[in-house]
Amino acid sequence: MKAHDGMYIGGQWQPAAAPDTIAVVNPADEQVIGHVPAGTAEDVDAAVHAARAAFPAWAATPPAERAQRLAALRDELGRRTEEIAETVTAELGAPPALALAVHASLPVKVAGSYAELAGSYSFEEKLGNSTVLMEPVGVVGAITPWNYPLHQIVAKVAPALAAGCTVVLKPAEDTPLTAQLFAEAVHAAGVPAGVFNLVTGLGTVAGQALAEHEGVDLVSFTGSTAVGRQIGATAGGAIKRVALELGGKSASVILPSADLAKAVNAGVANVMSNSGQTCSAWTRMLVHRDRYDEAVALAAAAVAKYVPGDRVGPLVNAKQRERVRGYIAKGVAEGARLVAGGPEAPLETGYYVSPTVFADVTPGMTIAQEEIFGPVLSILRYEDEDDALAIANGTVYGLAGAVWAGDDAEAVAFARRMDTGQVDINGGRFNPLAPFGGYKQSGVGRELGPHGLAEYLQTKSLQF
Ligand code: NAD
Repeated sequence: MKAHDGMYIGGQWQPAAAPDTIAVVNPADEQVIGHVPAGTAEDVDAAVHAARAAFPAWAATPPAERAQRLAALRDELGRRTEEIAETVTAELGAPPALALAVHASLPVKVAGSYAELAGSYSFEEKLGNSTVLMEPVGVVGAITPWNYPLHQIVAKVAPALAAGCTVVLKPAEDTPLTAQLFAEAVHAAGVPAGVFNLVTGLGTVAGQALAEHEGVDLVSFTGSTAVGRQIGATAGGAIKRVALELGGKSASVILPSADLAKAVNAGVANVMSNSGQTCSAWTRMLVHRDRYDEAVALAAAAVAKYVPGDRVGPLVNAKQRERVRGYIAKGVAEGARLVAGGPEAPLETGYYVSPTVFADVTPGMTIAQEEIFGPVLSILRYEDEDDALAIANGTVYGLAGAVWAGDDAEAVAFARRMDTGQVDINGGRFNPLAPFGGYKQSGVGRELGPHGLAEYLQTKSLQF
């Protein structure tokens, strides 16, 4: 894999301030595939200065011109989907088909949506005797995770650029090569120097320096709740804007009238995709007691199709694998019943975890409350709709969910009572324009579509 040995700052690849590097490992075979520089506070400072210097001109660039640059970025990402998919497979371990269909292709759609929105969004509105101007917030510090390496980057950078903000990106240390490819695409798209900058490095060094930098006006973070809490506190102390996309423990609620086989198969697929490393995954399946045994049998049959090393990739690194295996062991220890998988490693090489299904999970168990971030499904039993609702809403999270019922109206009535940011009704399709973000401890703010764009704007009211 090709790796740059510098940082992309001010429109060019520049040597890093310090000689330290981070090894990038292929989680499927545990081989080192490249090294990237481990950025320091000095690199972050240089990047923030470049972003600040570029801000006035980019903010003053007419939205239609910003839209043209985003359209060029969309096209550039579209031209490179094969290369992007190969890179995501190499550093995340995503199976090639998933890498191409989701990891490489979804960001093209999201970049395209912002190319359109930048041109059509109303950056001015009339309210009584006022004209309200929607102005860019300023310099954005974007800190992204490894689970959807390119999507998470594009979901922050594209709306920020559409709004007229400039950006410093600190990507996850496990997946920096995809971030370097993105920087190449930004460059090729003719985005002016300094509008987008990339600093690779450790979260506790480069990430923290970016979150704390006084030249950053808004910090947008996606990742763990623990780090999100810290970044939120830092941003609060400095009175700066913050957006947090954190964890989830989403429920797929199968109402008695639902097509059970369809709901169970979709639920298993949802959790196994990306080896369960999806913040919005429906990791809790809620089934009425009368159909519970049938659902468990269907889930056990469905999960058998997810073969590690084939349809299911490894976890991103050894630490995540151990974390997930620890949760599986805890599930067993707390009395849940294993119907598929278990804590044993399915393959000798690579950070694989067996696709795992637990039955007889009760709401108080650790595996029913905490985000596991692996291919682990918990099936819970409910007595009636109110019980199902109490279980669905009974975690600190509220990112996503699903409701399955005989007709959409019944499912929607239930979805209205859920404390969560997104609900898929009877298997509704992903919509890249729909606001994505959390209720409760799943986060602050929204990404994607016009709501995602609004995050990067502040208002100025002129009275006449
Ligand atoms: P993390 O929160 O440590 O890392 C996410 C990003 O934050 C990375 O770029 C990292 O370098 C950076 N970071 C880490 N510490 C930082 C700090 N002190 N200041 C600033 N930036 C910092 O997540 P992780 O360790 O990679 O994953 C752990 C768990 O987080 C997972 O098991 C999962 O539960 C959760 N997670 C959630 C998402 C999501 O999409 N919501 C994504 C990845 C991980």
